[in-house]
Amino acid sequence: MHNLHAGGSCLDNLQRPLRDLRISVTDRCNLRCTYCMPDEVFGKNFVFLRHADLLSFEEIIRVARHCIALGVRKIRLSGGEPLLRHGIERLVEMLATLVDSNGKPIDLALTTNGTLLAKKARSLKDAGLARLNVSLDALDENIFHTMSGSNTSPALVLEGIAAAQACGLTPIKVNAVVKRGINESEILPLIRRFRHTGVIMRFIEYMDVGNTNGWRLDDVVTASEILSKINNEYPLRSLSPQVPGEVAKRWAFQDGSGEIGVISSVTQAFCHTCSRLRLSTDGKLYTCLFASEGTDLRTLLRTEPDDAQLQERITALWHNRADRYSQLRCAASVPSAKKIEMSYIGG
Ligand code: SAM
Ligand code: SF4
Ligand code: SF4
Repeated sequence: MHNLHAGGSCLDNLQRPLRDLRISVTDRCNLRCTYCMPDEVFGKNFVFLRHADLLSFEEIIRVARHCIALGVRKIRLSGGEPLLRHGIERLVEMLATLVDSNGKPIDLALTTNGTLLAKKARSLKDAGLARLNVSLDALDENIFHTMSGSNTSPALVLEGIAAAQACGLTPIKVNAVVKRGINESEILPLIRRFRHTGVIMRFIEYMDVGNTNGWRLDDVVTASEILSKINNEYPLRSLSPQVPGEVAKRWAFQDGSGEIGVISSVTQAFCHTCSRLRLSTDGKLYTCLFASEGTDLRTLLRTEPDDAQLQERITALWHNRADRYSQLRCAASVPSAKKIEMSYIGG
């Protein structure tokens, strides 16, 4: 029998419960952010997964149910760009009906680049989506073009955010990855834009995910640099975490104009509380964002295993989990293994 937590959830090798499931619903995207899917690699000759390779919604639901039985309470849809997946609202609707062992609905969220949100916010809300994160790295047209590797205007994302707010998909979190010398200058404009709006602005340290973004430590603007820049202009006070394992450190503006978050995945690793499992577009489970190997579930799902077999596969995977890549990176002892791309496991 595997380790079970007092709350009924499955514990890994470092005593961390399984709480979050992040599902990548497509490996495709309509942007080419330089830090995620650089155009030189994900250009027109790049071969994306075929439709038959993707997990169907029914297969996703089956995996989600087993994960919930093992302790998952929060599910986030991601990608690639999740709003590009045909019929995404139907998947949201199916996930929104799932409940935990106490009959409580699962906390269902989605991360999007916002470009299709103006069209889809209402149908997502109606389908039962609870929360939304929108990525937006700059307000300035040119800087946005550079960060997103596209000619898309940030105005389109702002429209999407407004549509989501109007239909009550709140509170919205807006995420910006900060790259030194590229969009550092946008930190304060983004803060000014979203203070007083109820939107929670969050800054993310640029991470060395995948093998294609040419990451260098020098390009990382650290959480403490970001915070002091903001604090100099708009004094902050720290807030306590709302839930254990929360990745963002939360801060409130002292003048009461709102809240922000900073995600310091590079300089202050949070592996010790990491309770997240990732399901890739083609049905592999990854126990860490920086993993090089996933555990294939699709073959098992398509050979009609009984539920006990599926549950056993997931339990064994979590039970053996000992990942703590970021902590080791901080200790500068990271092996230079091949890593999986973020667009494929959903960030
Ligand atoms: N396309 C959607 C979006 O951009 O929100 C969802 C998928 S994207 C992979 C999820 C999140 O990962 C985004 O907020 C993105 O900024 C973040 N991300 C991607 N590459 C990153 C990197 N190298 N470092 C830090 N965050 C990264
Ligand atoms: Fe696309 Fe999101 Fe990656 Fe940007 S961060 S390339 S929007 S998947
Ligand atoms: Fe979790 Fe891996 Fe990130 Fe550590 S490096 S917080 S274990 S995903």
